Amino acid sequence: MSLRPSLLARLAARTAEREQANLRRRLRTIDHVDGPWLELDGKQLLSFCSNDYLGLAQHPQLIAAFKRVADDEGVGSGSAHLICGHRAEHAALEQALAEWTGRERALLFSTGYMANLGVQQALLSDGDVCVQDKLNHACLLDGAKLSGAELKRYPHGDVAGAARQLASRSTAAALLATDGVFSMDGDMAPLRELATLCTREGATLMVDDAHGLGVLGDDGAGSVAAAGLSPREVPVLMATLGKALGCHGAFVAGSAALIEGLLQSARPYIYTTAMPPALAAAALAAVQLARTESWRRERLNSHIERFRQGAAELGLALMPSSTAIQPLLLGDADTALAAAQMLEQHGFLVSAIRPPTVPAGQARLRITLSATHEEEHVDQLLEALAKLPQHGVPAPHV
Ligand code: PMP
Repeated sequence: MSLRPSLLARLAARTAEREQANLRRRLRTIDHVDGPWLELDGKQLLSFCSNDYLGLAQHPQLIAAFKRVADDEGVGSGSAHLICGHRAEHAALEQALAEWTGRERALLFSTGYMANLGVQQALLSDGDVCVQDKLNHACLLDGAKLSGAELKRYPHGDVAGAARQLASRSTAAALLATDGVFSMDGDMAPLRELATLCTREGATLMVDDAHGLGVLGDDGAGSVAAAGLSPREVPVLMATLGKALGCHGAFVAGSAALIEGLLQSARPYIYTTAMPPALAAAALAAVQLARTESWRRERLNSHIERFRQGAAELGLALMPSSTAIQPLLLGDADTALAAAQMLEQHGFLVSAIRPPTVPAGQARLRITLSATHEEEHVDQLLEALAKLPQHGVPAPHV
């Protein structure tokens, strides 16, 4: 027998360690979804963990657009965009996204994960610097690591910390990348201050607005629009189609030169199959609805306000967030897991987010609200949360 450790044995050991620490991730199969309701293990649960913030995933216009193009053109695109996978539906969606976000052009990626890898791989090289908020999404951090640039992180939301990281570089070119809305905390990045800093330091600002697009800004154009920042101040904007838009995929929007550069150089764009054209057609319908049906944002915002006010009355220590992501910090991973299990017994699906997705000691319930919820759903969740043995712990400084 070889004494060399097998890769598979090492992976199995890591899985066993997670199991022992009670941190094993469990894949569960949802049998059916109907608005905020879903069926799991034969039980109807009210979901407070989806990112379908505007309730578009099951909208008849999205379904009709998807079906029309699938009937006409089939399902798969057949190849990468640059071979023969790029269809009229992709082009129309890119144009609509560029117009919505006020940029010259947009480029579709198959997922947000790939978009963040692609942008950083195309923009950065060895010797460059990438400055990132410590709580940025995993794929922004992974993109920087894969790019070959030096990754420098700053404490969450700390503009002075970001300034120190930028100032400590030599003559290197720098990208500063931040989530617009932080996926596990729900708070917003200080975009105005970061934009001012980047202008002063000659750094390029990139915003990942996966959780802001559709939700923030007057016509849902996202965090950057809500902060009143111009394309010059935020030259690289990335957002996803799988959250408020209820679809799947992602895009990068920016100047014509940026987009042409990505099309030429971003490997996760070049070497992958284009998203199904039916999906692009559904996403176009979603963009039109997200822009025009502002009542969805108003309804979501009224749920957020109701939830936060109710939580305050009950003494629940919610994290400081004004977005659809409303985490209740519980600290210990076992406590968060037990809380999620208790909520499930009461008919609610809420995810317990544990390390390493969040820092050790900061396990939480990640509660998300949606325009599909009714006011009474929000009240029912609050009643169930009030029964938890622990009502949250104060948010730490990161
Ligand atoms: N960025 C952020 C901030 C996200 O929350 C996510 C999704 N969880 C992504 C990027 C990745 O997007 P996708 O799911 O389309 O890969």
